[in-house]
Amino acid sequence: MAGIVIESPISADIEIDCLIIGGGAAGLTASLAVAQAGLSVLIAERQDRVSGSTALSSGLIPAADTNAQRRQQLEDDTDQFFSNIMAKNNHQADTAHVWRCINGVRAAINWLETDHDIPFHVLDSFLYPGHSHYRMHAVPEVTGKDLVRRLEHAASKQEIPISCNLKITNLVVSDAGNIIGAQAERPDGCQETIAAKMIILACNGYGGNRDLVARYIPEMRDAIYFGHSGNQGEAVLWGQALGAEIAHLSGYQGHGSVAYPHGILITWAIMMEGGFQVNQLGKRFSNEHHGYSEQAVNVLSQSGQLAYNIFDARLTALGAEFEDFRNAEQAGAIIKADTIAELADKIEIDGHNLANTLAECNRLADTGEIDGFGRRFLPEKKLSPPFSAVKVTGTLFHTQGGLVINDHAQVLRTDGSIVAGLYACGGAACGVSGPDVSGYLSGNGLLTALALGYLAGHHIAQDF
Ligand SMILES: Cc1cc2nc3c(=O)[nH]c(=O)nc-3n(C[C@H](O)[C@H](O)[C@H](O)COP(=O)(O)OP(=O)(O)OC[C@H]3O[C@@H](n4cnc5c(N)ncnc54)[C@H](O)[C@@H]3O)c2cc1C
Repeated sequence: MAGIVIESPISADIEIDCLIIGGGAAGLTASLAVAQAGLSVLIAERQDRVSGSTALSSGLIPAADTNAQRRQQLEDDTDQFFSNIMAKNNHQADTAHVWRCINGVRAAINWLETDHDIPFHVLDSFLYPGHSHYRMHAVPEVTGKDLVRRLEHAASKQEIPISCNLKITNLVVSDAGNIIGAQAERPDGCQETIAAKMIILACNGYGGNRDLVARYIPEMRDAIYFGHSGNQGEAVLWGQALGAEIAHLSGYQGHGSVAYPHGILITWAIMMEGGFQVNQLGKRFSNEHHGYSEQAVNVLSQSGQLAYNIFDARLTALGAEFEDFRNAEQAGAIIKADTIAELADKIEIDGHNLANTLAECNRLADTGEIDGFGRRFLPEKKLSPPFSAVKVTGTLFHTQGGLVINDHAQVLRTDGSIVAGLYACGGAACGVSGPDVSGYLSGNGLLTALALGYLAGHHIAQDF
């Protein structure tokens, strides 16, 4: 059980300026800024390699007014980005926090390009739900694992030590309550103590901790957790023990489109470009354009906790731009048929209803009417034979609640004072999605990883 130890002075095996707990996007980004200032830094990663949910992700980072957007002549501005985030979270996120993330992520992406040779481009073939402009930034390979690989390479160029198989178990504080180090455990049970003037919590949220999920997000208690197993919620537990302010623990990112039983993410681009979801009765049950996060709950409430993405050859080609989708095709998850009746037969759902659903979507596209769920279908995006389908379920991707921080990503207590020496970034910090699953705007996860990692790292670099 993660805890707090009071030990003054600390008796340590090693001494460093800054300990970073967690080797995902947040921790790696922060480490680059700390090391750039000539400070000693160590990344502790409990697993045998850096990865985190970042490496499992699609690696898409939303940012406005960046150099990458300008190179591609894509119009956008931070006010629009702010409006999109606030509209999605139903104006429940703290506005100052949203602005620090928006400004932080723009600075982080530009800086990673100029100072650390990590190139970004912006996906401009479709808009993610809730985004008014093209602003999803990706490394050339458009995968989370290559984002991690490039960050790790930048860290190795600065000779930043990364200690894998090192689980931080306790934070060590002085009598005055200042952070002075941490205790760690190796897989063989060996204990180590690290003295550090600053600690950055980059250990994400509690998606991998069944008990915490059941307590704070009961509707996802039995859902498949699709994120990284290392994310066990220590940041929240340490924060609670330190009297830190913690917000929006019921907030999270779900996803309503994970191939079942293959467990492969099927890009939501297919829904945004004309595809739709039906249940086993062959009927639609929601507005797919509200977002993939809340769609997790909608899908889990269907019979068998399953739904079927219905699309066509045009959208199959679009999906194939993503590695996950190509993997799903190889695994046999994508079912194809020349007619809608044959497709219904193959996926064993009600063919009569599915044909009616398709006809209704096409009618809506032709007339311009908005459907009963609030979705508008467009004539140029109507589905045509041959058709495709994939059986999907709803899953939990990561949690969005966490530690409340100030403009430098320093952790705050409930009385507003700073926990001296403690920073939080990425999924360890409270996000910008508010307290509900429907508040998650695409990209809100890596947004706080890069933005707050950048802010924490730069503040430590300047403060020393
Ligand atoms: C399938 C999938 C797709 C996604 N796609 C996107 C996307 O395209 N865009 C987007 O914005 N978001 C996406 N997300 C969410 C995004 O991946 C996360 O929000 C983001 O990666 C969080 O980064 P992080 O650095 O905070 O945490 P992580 O990348 O999870 O890293 C945290 C690390 O801390 C380590 N750790 C935890 N506790 C300890 C401890 N006690 N001691 C030592 N190490 C510890 C963990 O092992 C882990 O490696 C996706 C998530 C999933 C699951």
